[in-house]
Amino acid sequence: MTRICIKVGSNVLTRADGSLDATRQSALVDQIADLYKQGYEVLLVSSGAVACGRSVLHHRNDLRTKDTVDERQLFSAVGQAKLIDRYYELFREHGITVGQVLTMKENFVSEEHRRTQQNCMEVMLQNGVIPIINENDTVCVTELMFTDNDELSGLVAQMMQCQRLIILSNIDGIYTGDPSDPASELIRYVHPGDNLQQYIQTKKSSLGRGGMQSKCHIAQMVAQSDIEVVIANGKHENILLKILKDPLDVPCTRFVCG
Ligand code: GLU
Repeated sequence: MTRICIKVGSNVLTRADGSLDATRQSALVDQIADLYKQGYEVLLVSSGAVACGRSVLHHRNDLRTKDTVDERQLFSAVGQAKLIDRYYELFREHGITVGQVLTMKENFVSEEHRRTQQNCMEVMLQNGVIPIINENDTVCVTELMFTDNDELSGLVAQMMQCQRLIILSNIDGIYTGDPSDPASELIRYVHPGDNLQQYIQTKKSSLGRGGMQSKCHIAQMVAQSDIEVVIANGKHENILLKILKDPLDVPCTRFVCG
C-alpha cells in the first residue's frame, strides 16, 4: 500500500476575492477519494483556515481586534470550523470518513508528543479515516508556529513514513526565473545536491505564509529522507491523479530522493 501526504495551500482553496473556492475543494476531494479507492493511504494537510475565516468575517466593520495575532486567532477559529465541515460533507458523499488533527510545532519536538500524534494518525489510517491536518492556529502564535504548512507537511510525511509528499500551490513548480516571464522554464527534476538558490523567487503568496523558498528548502530536506516530493499546481484539472498516473505529462517539479 502506498502512503502519501498531500498538502493543499490557501491559494489553491480560495478565489481571487479571498472566498473559499468550493468548486476547487470539491474537485480535490473527488481526486483524493479516487486515490483512496485505489488503495492509497492519504494524509491531507490543508491550509485555508485563516483565509476562510477572513472571508466569512471581512464584511463586519465592528470587529474588535487589537493586532494581527488577535486576527489570526479569530479568523482561524471561524475558518477551520467551516473548512473541516466542507471537507467532512464532501468526503461523506464518497462514503469516506475524515477526522481533524490540529497540531503544533512542539508536538514534533518532544518524543512523547510525537509518538502520541503518530499513534493518532496511524489509528485513523488503520480504520480507513483520512486525517485532515492543520496547525492549531488559534493557540500557535509567534515563535511556537511552524514556518508554514509546507514545513508541517514535511514533518508529517517523515513521521508517517510516506512514500511521497505532494505540495499543491497555485504555480506549476520551480522556474528558472520569474514564472510570469515567458523566458523562464519549469524545472522538472531536482536532484540531491542541486543548488536552487539562483532560481528561487523570494516573493510570497498573498494568502498563505509559505513561499517558494521555504517549499524548496522543505522539499530538499524531505527528499533526503527517501520521500519523493512533488510541487504542482492544485488548480489544474485532475492534477493529483495525473501526478500519480501519467507523471511525464504533468507540469510539476519533482525532487528525486537522495
Ligand atoms: N495554518 C494556516 C491556515 O490554515 C496556513 C499556514 C500557511 O499558510 O502555510 O490558514
